Amino acid sequence: MSPTLDTVRVSAERAYDVTVGHGATTLLPGLVDDCARVALLHPVELTDRAEALARAIDAEVLLLCAPPGERAKTAGFLADCWDALAGAGFTRSDAVVGFGGGATTDLAGFVAATWLRGVRYISVPTTLLAMVDAAVGGKTGINLDAGKNLVGAFWEPAAVLADLDLLATLPVDDLRGGLAEMIKHGFIADERTLEIFEADPSAMLDPSSDALAEAVTRSMRVKAGVVSGDLREATSHGTQVGRELLNYGHTLGHAIERRERFTWRHGYAVAVGVAYAALLARNLGHADDAFVERHRRILGSVGLPITYDAGAYEELRATMSLDKKTRGDALRFVLLDAVAAPFIAEAPPETVLRATYEELTR
Ligand code: NAD
Repeated sequence: MSPTLDTVRVSAERAYDVTVGHGATTLLPGLVDDCARVALLHPVELTDRAEALARAIDAEVLLLCAPPGERAKTAGFLADCWDALAGAGFTRSDAVVGFGGGATTDLAGFVAATWLRGVRYISVPTTLLAMVDAAVGGKTGINLDAGKNLVGAFWEPAAVLADLDLLATLPVDDLRGGLAEMIKHGFIADERTLEIFEADPSAMLDPSSDALAEAVTRSMRVKAGVVSGDLREATSHGTQVGRELLNYGHTLGHAIERRERFTWRHGYAVAVGVAYAALLARNLGHADDAFVERHRRILGSVGLPITYDAGAYEELRATMSLDKKTRGDALRFVLLDAVAAPFIAEAPPETVLRATYEELTR
């Protein structure tokens, strides 16, 4: 294997490898060399690169061009994919490849999970968010009008190829969105990730930098470690925090995303949520001022937001009650005492929640 490629092993029901580095997609043909047919799902923006990948594969390749972004994750497009597989005579020994951002890979994974009750799936994420978040953990699915990700399945890929060369064309806002999740991974589990950000924030916005490559590998390792310990998202108690750990910053983050009607990138909303979570932990008597400041400094250093609309608390509080982590009316937050020292805060006092929000927006 080329020295520029790193491997992260994910223990799951069927363990698999994530390969990270420049040129990782060159491994794709070898992963499907026993298939007669391969369905390659890609967004329209990546048509040329999908066609080039298809030419390298020694099988009949069915190129399925997905509508942009979330429009890929619909029941309508899912049914179109099933029809295409049926038309091409796809069998259980064929494979599906998801080549795109998280929207494309969520859809492609669900196509693989459902076709003949499950065929081989290979994830080739092309956005930073899809690499460090969506590609590992086995969650696949589509949206309904009633809400995002309401229909889906856990379906682990046979392999993940995170080719950093693909990030060269990614708009900088999308890059930042992925960085927010990487910073979150640093705080919940990996001090070294935070040090990489602190050493040279500008390198994190440069897809060709060695610093970004190291941080992406570490981030995927964090996600792999968390999901391997809790494959089906069991409940956490006290300081025994399972997959829910990945929701650090997401309680407020999801509420902001909804208030912005999903026009904000997920990572931007998470960045504000992470800044809020740090403040909340301190205000509940856990983390110290330096820990709060470290959050604000690292998030801000790559251009992520750390504050929000001062007049929005009532609306956000009402939306947080609908959060999937909420039990009854009481809110539930994943918080940190320090880096990699999580705990669950059940039903923090309403006065503290509000005062913390006021502090965030000052
Ligand atoms: P996205 O898939 O919508 O991609 C953003 C845009 O960038 C799209 O228009 C896409 O076609 C384009 N694009 C993709 N790669 C590109 C490249 N290399 N160069 C230029 N343009 C490129 O967005 P996203 O942020 O990657 O993913 C968001 C989705 O991921 C959401 O649907 C979310 O629910 C899902 N997600 C899933 C998980 C999971 O565990 N399964 C985790 C996090 C997010």
